[in-house]
Amino acid sequence: MKLTEDVHLVGSGSAGVGLTHELDCHVYLLDGGEELALVDAGAGLDVDDILRNVEAEGFRPQDVRYILITHAHGDHIGGAAALKEATGARVAISEVEAPFLREGDEEATALAQAREDGYYPPNYRLRPCPVDMELKHGDEFEVGKLRVRGIHLPGHSKGSMLYLVDGERRYLFSGDAIFFGGVISLLNCVGSSLEDYRENIWKLKGLNVDALMPGHLNFCLSGGQRHLDAAVEAFKGIGVPTNLIGRHGLIMSQ
Ligand SMILES: [Zn+2]
Repeated sequence: MKLTEDVHLVGSGSAGVGLTHELDCHVYLLDGGEELALVDAGAGLDVDDILRNVEAEGFRPQDVRYILITHAHGDHIGGAAALKEATGARVAISEVEAPFLREGDEEATALAQAREDGYYPPNYRLRPCPVDMELKHGDEFEVGKLRVRGIHLPGHSKGSMLYLVDGERRYLFSGDAIFFGGVISLLNCVGSSLEDYRENIWKLKGLNVDALMPGHLNFCLSGGQRHLDAAVEAFKGIGVPTNLIGRHGLIMSQ
């Protein structure tokens, strides 16, 4: 599904538009011209569907040079190993969560807890995946003609990495850290922390984002910064922020 000149949606589950497996997060394809990148990898329960969508949009899977992971939860990293094998892409993830993906650590990613809670099927397992790029806050690189900057915003998870991308407009691929309306996703599991959100939410200020592209639910192609400003604003009082959702709230995702 073509969203803009730079971005196609090639995966999306039941907390999205129902394009691929129900547990998949949004999987975006960045078209940098000579180089392509995927943002996130889905749950890994039907990777072929994602690859078919890449081809249906007119691209070759072997031209995918990067898989940019927003954070190490199963619905975002489960497909990483299979997509890397199919494309030969380099996998990028925050340095904080790189060991979790490399080792397929089901405790550190809270996957064991989420499976126990019925979010994943009983036989679901996290496939370890080699990591090629361990990112820090502020790291910059290019995907063809697109300029990418990593923004480390712990809160939803310790290593949540957002990707600010400059193309025909400015995009923020925000994973589960920040959603449409300025909503944040705090989970009752290891790695998720209101304190981390409070200490890092300022990083959303002044980014001048046009398109907000989260890991689930609505994305928007213009006016994105107002959603980020709303999130910053919600943290100004001493009371518990009112922009919280968890997976039993409006959204079903890990
Ligand atoms: Zn998540």
